[in-house]
Amino acid sequence: MDCFAAPAPSAPLPLDEALARVQGAYGAVTEPEEVPLRAALGRILAEPVTATVNVPPVAVSAMDGWGYGWAEAADGDVRRLTVVGRVPAGSVFPGTVGPGEAVRIFTGAPIPAGVDTVAMQEDCRAEDGAVLVPADLKRGANIRDAGEDMTAGSVVLTPGLRLRAQEVGLAAAVGRSSLSVRKRLRVVLFSTGDELREPGTEKPEGAIYDANRYTLAAQLDALGADVRDLGILPDKPDVTRAALADAAATADLVVTSGGASVGEEDHVKRVVGELGSVDLWKLALKPGKPLALGRIGATPFLGLPGNPVSAMVTFMLVGRPLVLRLSGAESAPAPRCLVVAGFAFKKKPGRREFLRARLATGPDGRPVAHKFPSDSSGVLTSMVEADGLVDMPADATMIHDGDMVEFLPFTGLFA
Ligand code: AMP
Ligand code: MG
Repeated sequence: MDCFAAPAPSAPLPLDEALARVQGAYGAVTEPEEVPLRAALGRILAEPVTATVNVPPVAVSAMDGWGYGWAEAADGDVRRLTVVGRVPAGSVFPGTVGPGEAVRIFTGAPIPAGVDTVAMQEDCRAEDGAVLVPADLKRGANIRDAGEDMTAGSVVLTPGLRLRAQEVGLAAAVGRSSLSVRKRLRVVLFSTGDELREPGTEKPEGAIYDANRYTLAAQLDALGADVRDLGILPDKPDVTRAALADAAATADLVVTSGGASVGEEDHVKRVVGELGSVDLWKLALKPGKPLALGRIGATPFLGLPGNPVSAMVTFMLVGRPLVLRLSGAESAPAPRCLVVAGFAFKKKPGRREFLRARLATGPDGRPVAHKFPSDSSGVLTSMVEADGLVDMPADATMIHDGDMVEFLPFTGLFA
């Protein structure tokens, strides 16, 4: 047996297949907890929310104006109706509005018996205890029906939703003051590399400042994770092994960057293999060098490439879905849209490429993507310049200036 035989080269893995493996191998690991509504923004809902009331509870006026029975003014003439009451929001008109009568009514006020139409005040003329209402309104105009927004008994929010302002508001609208959400995913984060130094410290020649822990911590924060930053690991297997084993004991996910290739200074893969299991994937993706995914004991592990752009982009494309999955969020692909290419670009078929691009408005008003000149995975300035990524399919070989291309805005890849 040849002990030095290289492992059989596996075919590069398409991104979609990597994502399918993530979905297949990992599920939600976080427990539910109850939080007050004001603390629910960005959290992942762990229960179905059912409306216990109709919203609105009864038919209400959608305008400030006058309410009356539609038949009163159905014959095409402006009508003079006697004003028999005043109904501000929060009050109830006690009687019935009869023939020849109207009530002064305000937005949100319950519609009295006998009223089925509201004319907005701008279209009416009030005069001395009476009002002139227009004759051309539809029956039911300017009235919001009971339950028009939500009906009692219906499920209005489903588990797995990441709560935005509107979901928090909806929960409040059905009377909830707290919600059951998933606990934050506890993520431990390391950088690896003897050349790395902490920003703000002295740096010997040849050393570089650690950027990845800062981009990745920010990316994890944006996904609602509870990030524990454990600093820089040297390229030493023993230290790496002890630190990873220790960290994994109290984490839901361990994330590292660097050291995940197959060079002799790259220990992460081997160490994780010893502590659990690891797959090193060569993704058919650019940027995106090998990506390691596995477990340390039972704790999921994600080993990202060291190059700052590769680390960020592979986190966006693979790390983000993994974190959302472990966090219990329902899977939602990052939003994408079609934009005009403001550049020409050529590549070989076989590998999907994500090009860093900035958006501008073209002469016809359509958004145009301008590609960053360098494709190096080491230039973080490209990410600062760019607004998102142009997705160039594996089999595509050419983008022409003026082609329509798929664009993934960073806003959707961060959140
Ligand atoms: P590696 O994957 O460890 O071989 O690293 C690939 C490249 O990324 C090397 O040039 C590293 O110096 C660089 N790199 C690795 N980790 C970081 C980091 N945390 N911040 C900035 N650059 C890094
Ligand atoms: Mg390294």
